Amino acid sequence: MCQNNTIKFIFLILMILASCFFCKKFFKTCVYKSSCKTNSQKTIFTFLGAPGAGKGTLAAQCVSKLGFETVSTGNLCRQEIALGSQKGKKLQEYMMKGLVPDEIIVEMLKSWLDKQKGDKTIILDGYPRTQNQAILLNSLLKDKFSDYNFRVVFLQVFDQEEVVKRLTSRLVCSNKACQAIYNLATLKDKNKRICKKCGGKLIQRADDKEEVIRRRFKDFAKNNAEIISFYNKVGIIVETFNVSHAMPKQIFENFKKVAK
Ligand code: ZN
Repeated sequence: MCQNNTIKFIFLILMILASCFFCKKFFKTCVYKSSCKTNSQKTIFTFLGAPGAGKGTLAAQCVSKLGFETVSTGNLCRQEIALGSQKGKKLQEYMMKGLVPDEIIVEMLKSWLDKQKGDKTIILDGYPRTQNQAILLNSLLKDKFSDYNFRVVFLQVFDQEEVVKRLTSRLVCSNKACQAIYNLATLKDKNKRICKKCGGKLIQRADDKEEVIRRRFKDFAKNNAEIISFYNKVGIIVETFNVSHAMPKQIFENFKKVAK
């Protein structure tokens, strides 16, 4: 009888020790997980999408309504040039020749990210545009900014003709001080093409000509397929939104649901 009680007692002690051990382990896991979550709240988004898919509009809404911050590599270059620094002068030379090497762009992005404080969500505006840029960006984020959660959002347009139609029907006031934008489809007097605000002549931008748009679509399709294939290879999820026939407000609402 006495021996039986001793066994029961030892068993009880073992049970208590075991539960303490698991509790501690469980507690540690929770603490670890919650600290991870705090870190991963810092997010960098990149928006992929064809010309006219609405990347710029979505980014602008994220800034004004969600307090996100956007960074454009083009603006970073222009700021550096405006400073008149040695680097700026070099950049200007490259820009005059046509293209700034990817390595320099990613270096500028690194300097900008280094200066960021707090946990504001960042949108990379129009970057990466090629597979090489995606590779360099991925190395940068992995090596130096692993505390950021990197998310790729693809605004996919299935009805390309709709976008071509929309972009080619855009008219802009030729008066440099006005530059009001009109749509040929909703213009009352289609033959006159006169600006209601200043009386200036409405013209089509060189960028909005059909052959130019079709060429940009073609370039985009090739580059985007290569970017996505790279992200698939390294296991980065590409979150796809169908934006065909969707209004900017609707795209924003859909994005907002998954953004946080
Ligand atoms: Zn005008």
